[in-house]
Amino acid sequence: MDARETPAGRIVSPDLGPATALRCRECGDSCDLGPRYACSTCFGPLEVAYSFTGVTRSSIEAGPPNIWRYRRLLPVPDGVTATRNMEPGWTRLVRAENLARELGMRELWIKDDSGNPTHSFKDRVVAVALAAAREMGFTVLACPSTGNLANAVAAAAARAGIRSVVLIPADLEQPKIVCTAVYGGDLFAVRGTYDDINRLASEIADDEDWAFVNVNVRPYYAEGSKTLGYEIAEQLGWRLPEQIVVPVASGSQLTKVDKAFGELTELGLVDAAPYRVFGAQATGCAPVSTAFKAGHDAVRPVRPETIAKSLAIGNPADGPYALDVCRRTGGAVEDVSDDEIRDAITLLGRTEGIFAETAGGVTVATLRKLLDGGALDPDARTVVINSGEGLKTLDAVSSVVGPTAVIPATLEGFRGAVPS
Ligand SMILES: *Cc1c(COP(=O)(O)O)cnc(C)c1O
Ligand SMILES: [Zn+2]
Repeated sequence: MDARETPAGRIVSPDLGPATALRCRECGDSCDLGPRYACSTCFGPLEVAYSFTGVTRSSIEAGPPNIWRYRRLLPVPDGVTATRNMEPGWTRLVRAENLARELGMRELWIKDDSGNPTHSFKDRVVAVALAAAREMGFTVLACPSTGNLANAVAAAAARAGIRSVVLIPADLEQPKIVCTAVYGGDLFAVRGTYDDINRLASEIADDEDWAFVNVNVRPYYAEGSKTLGYEIAEQLGWRLPEQIVVPVASGSQLTKVDKAFGELTELGLVDAAPYRVFGAQATGCAPVSTAFKAGHDAVRPVRPETIAKSLAIGNPADGPYALDVCRRTGGAVEDVSDDEIRDAITLLGRTEGIFAETAGGVTVATLRKLLDGGALDPDARTVVINSGEGLKTLDAVSSVVGPTAVIPATLEGFRGAVPS
């Protein structure tokens, strides 16, 4: 059955599991499920609405060790596990004893999403977007990307046997270009910022019948980030963290982690307990942090200039909602300099043996800064997210780490150089 809404206006209801409708986050109006992202009344962003049934701890625990264990909480057909997705998720939650000691904390955990198929959290959102897009009849997967999304879309489309069309900034890190191009889809390096590319993608999406994961099927894509929150709670033994530090690019991941915690609480899967959500940005692209500190509700766009390219969105679509979450939960948004990001990457590497990409440097550096400033409680159960893999952003740290010494192949040479 072709369930897509065609330009001619034909609508056949797609089967998206527990999803029942799309609802406007601003005016609350509902509309049918389909490839839409803006409210026809007020142009506000649309979000998936659900009717959940049969969600219990044991039904989840009986599921596969990937995001599909939460399929009854996602806008995907029930048989999704039988599709040819890349099965992201169920990444490790690491108790970071050494880093906690160094920072003077009691209980610190790292949710390490570099373990996903293309080594970033983006595999989660793409898998959900792809499952929904296929159910709606799309045969082309597309996106504008700051890098990791490009990797995830190209890989997932290749595996699903469909075409991908990816737009990236031409000045992206070389590993992220190679890690997209290798999957063989159409890849356009665009001379412009991510925000320019995002605008171009919206124009293309109006003309082409393609599923742009973060544009016309964004409501479904965004729900994929909830799985990060579900997993953290389940891996903590069905408990919420008391504090969580989340990276902010568009702000979507942060708002959906909060949504996940709220759903788990409402469904009685975790005990209701207060938690505080903290947003992390690079100072070179800190529109949400700036608005938080100024007490503004609106987020003023900036032109990004930072080594944390995966978070370099100057005009974040979910910025105001991320602000809401941080304020409502008693958290904060903070930003850190490129040097602080590099320091944090090496700190995490030497204390925990985890090599984070620049976005992980942003969250760990923000954790440290918020602790130093007293905004974070060192005695509370805290989770920090590492959303990507250090190998993709080698250049960021290649100037600050290297061999202990370069020596000749002789014992004397080694003895002369080895630190005693
Ligand atoms: C995309 C991305 C994020 C968060 O993105 P949002 O747009 O805020 O959801 C975080 N970390 C990495 C590495 C990413 O690629
Ligand atoms: Zn509306």
